[in-house]
Amino acid sequence: MTDEMPADLPGDLYGYETLLTDDERKELTGIRRFLHEEVRPRVNDAWESSEFPMDLVPRFAEEGMVGRSYDLEHQPRASRLFTGFIALETSRVDPSMATFLGVHNGLSMGSIVMLGSDEQRARWVPDMVAFDKIGAFALTEPHGGSDVARGLETTARRDGDEWVIDGAKRWIGNGTIADVVVVFARDVADDSVKTFVVEKGTPGFTPTKMEGKYALRTVQNADIVFEDCRVPAENKLEHGNSFKDVNRVLKLTRGGVAWSAVGCQMGAFEAAITYAKERSQFGRPIAGFQLIQDLLARMAGNVTASLGMAVRVSQLQEEGVFKDEQAALAKAFVTGRARETVALARELFGGNGILLENDVVRYFADAEALYSYEGTREINSLIVGRALTGVSAFV
Ligand SMILES: Cc1cc2nc3c(=O)[nH]c(=O)nc-3n(C[C@H](O)[C@H](O)[C@H](O)COP(=O)(O)OP(=O)(O)OC[C@H]3O[C@@H](n4cnc5c(N)ncnc54)[C@H](O)[C@@H]3O)c2cc1C
Repeated sequence: MTDEMPADLPGDLYGYETLLTDDERKELTGIRRFLHEEVRPRVNDAWESSEFPMDLVPRFAEEGMVGRSYDLEHQPRASRLFTGFIALETSRVDPSMATFLGVHNGLSMGSIVMLGSDEQRARWVPDMVAFDKIGAFALTEPHGGSDVARGLETTARRDGDEWVIDGAKRWIGNGTIADVVVVFARDVADDSVKTFVVEKGTPGFTPTKMEGKYALRTVQNADIVFEDCRVPAENKLEHGNSFKDVNRVLKLTRGGVAWSAVGCQMGAFEAAITYAKERSQFGRPIAGFQLIQDLLARMAGNVTASLGMAVRVSQLQEEGVFKDEQAALAKAFVTGRARETVALARELFGGNGILLENDVVRYFADAEALYSYEGTREINSLIVGRALTGVSAFV
């Protein structure tokens, strides 16, 4: 990346950004500036040390990057297109930061907004929008990844005015730094998957950072153990009573992952263009070689196709006609294109492509996580396949 503030979107050859209103574009420019000036200088150190730069957390709220997808008392909902572009810009600088925000904004706060009562929303959401509280979303388990809907083992038992949660969760983003953890557990009374909020410090709630993770290293993923963990009855989200309710949240957030995957490939693509113009071999910049231009054109095609799909996802969400298979296809297709784009960018850098200081290796590794979380390509393809054929092929 250059030190100059990037003015526009590299690879947006068809001008999708112009679909934003003038006010949105102005606000997006401010967010872009913040990300470039305050976040970008920190991302490689944070990634290498695998420590989250906690002092940046309130800045995301101050820049208006939190809770914009929801109609809240003090803040009307922003357009889906605009929130998509926020995810893109964040991931363009750092997919880890985009994931941190996606978990907080989408998975965690989205569960409370979509599945909570008015009282529950009022209890947690304002603090989350101000980033006084950080959110996490605990669905995946050590034995339940793709088949977590069927195989969810964490249990919840009603005991008077409390629910008692027992079990284990794995891969939980923000798990060690979260104040508010949305937890899915199977009610032993009726076998349904219910949704709870467990607050930091609750006895019997023990998160441990997962070490040795080589993608999205800045994201604090945790193993969480629940042992006789008691939460008040009013911490069970009123409308979180089945796995169908979980899917309502995932449908929204899978669109967000597609936007992040556009940003991830755009970050790698712009680094590659800059490098191609700076690096000389055989007496001239490598940008002047046909095979290098072929790499760039292939990257631009991926970026443009991915952005077009993400934009359409937002438009469908805005119209309220967004379907599961559209979310699944966008997530699977765009993360797949991202994986290819970052590999092409890495290739263009030659050996320098594996040095963290040149950024592309970070995008390269991070694309692997985007490709697998919130439903692997296989699982999202099965959702698409079921819609195309009317036949479920999950098992
Ligand atoms: C960086 C990161 C962050 C994450 N953050 C969170 C989080 O915040 N909260 C949370 O709850 N979870 C989180 N996850 C978990 C994530 O959602 C799971 O990793 C994902 O759902 C896949 O599950 P799995 O890793 O257990 O893979 P598995 O389910 O074990 O799958 C292994 C392989 O088998 C394939 N497979 C499985 N079933 C089928 C089938 N029926 N047909 C064909 N192929 C199949 C899969 O596609 C995959 O290739 C995160 C994961 C990562 C990597």
